[in-house]
Amino acid sequence: MTASQSPTRIVVLAGGVGGSRFVRGVRAAYPDARIDVIVNTADDITLHGLRVSPDLDTMMYALGGGIDDAKGWGRAEETWSIMAELKAYAVEPTWFALGDRDIATHLVRTQLIAAGARPTEITAALCTRWLGDEPVRLLPMTDDRVETHVVVADPEAPSGRRAMHFQEFWVRHHAEPEVLEVLQVGGESASASDEVLAAIGAAELILIGPSNPVVSIGPILATGGVRPALRAVTAPVVGVSGILGGAPVLGMADKLLPAIGVEVDAGAVGLHYGARSAGGLLDAWLVDSGDAAAAERLTAAGLPTLATPLLMTTPEDTARFIREGVGLAERADPAVVERAPASRSHQDPR
Ligand code: GDP
Ligand code: CA
Repeated sequence: MTASQSPTRIVVLAGGVGGSRFVRGVRAAYPDARIDVIVNTADDITLHGLRVSPDLDTMMYALGGGIDDAKGWGRAEETWSIMAELKAYAVEPTWFALGDRDIATHLVRTQLIAAGARPTEITAALCTRWLGDEPVRLLPMTDDRVETHVVVADPEAPSGRRAMHFQEFWVRHHAEPEVLEVLQVGGESASASDEVLAAIGAAELILIGPSNPVVSIGPILATGGVRPALRAVTAPVVGVSGILGGAPVLGMADKLLPAIGVEVDAGAVGLHYGARSAGGLLDAWLVDSGDAAAAERLTAAGLPTLATPLLMTTPEDTARFIREGVGLAERADPAVVERAPASRSHQDPR
């Protein structure tokens, strides 16, 4: 890829609601590119015997035109008969809403897991309906099972602490308890699928979306093989802040960043991912125009950073800042336009 050429193969790292808005912008920026979205699966949870993958499903429905646009998640024109019946039986948990249409997705997934299929294969099967021949592929970050749990302060627990699934913290407790620790259960032994590593190795552009740095991007980067693969690529890696003016646009990243020792600040998140030149991942970082001071500070510290409006109001707004970020990476390191073609075989650094 040169500065005058568009990338033909793009990898995006993403979570659910913010991630899917971002990918809609990537599609608008590069309509002819093949896009591989590596999606967080550490939010996955088993409810009523059904395996639910909230970020994958949000991404799939959003890109396939089946999302409830007002909520940003769940199926359009959803009905809730099954939840009502479960409540009538007093069957818990009732705090996680599963719509009737959505449940069909979880039934398919759960059956295919029981039949021995890998999450990567199951996602591909589900996406046949939603994405058809579109050049967009959703890849679970791993075929292994990883779940984010949080340890919260609980004065009533004997130890003063209590662990719970991230979804319970977020959906049931509205991210209200103080978070002491974030754990990736199963994370130590999880490794990226061959599909994920091959996609990274073949990419001409890698985008780290504005998704939650702790519970969306964090688990992807912690998956075995991902970080070394990203460090090895010749493609530019461009990241986007989801923290604007010291707060997330939506979600609870402000409750989680302190628990991993990162300030709730666009500059701090950029340094958390790190400049490639300093052993990190990024060739360029985007912060909102209100965070221009952070941009100056980071650029001076060796991480090329641009301050520009980052609200993803329409896919075209998102496409605009993505192209600006790619331009910055190319200007900051002219070598990225000279580097090897994307057909290099990827190394498996696990
Ligand atoms: P989740 O998995 O559904 O929680 O969604 P993600 O993790 O993919 O995205 C949530 C993150 O996206 C939050 O930290 C938000 O601050 C960020 N986000 C949401 N909307 C916007 C936006 O319009 N612009 C930017 N820059 N970030 C956003
Ligand atoms: Ca999520």
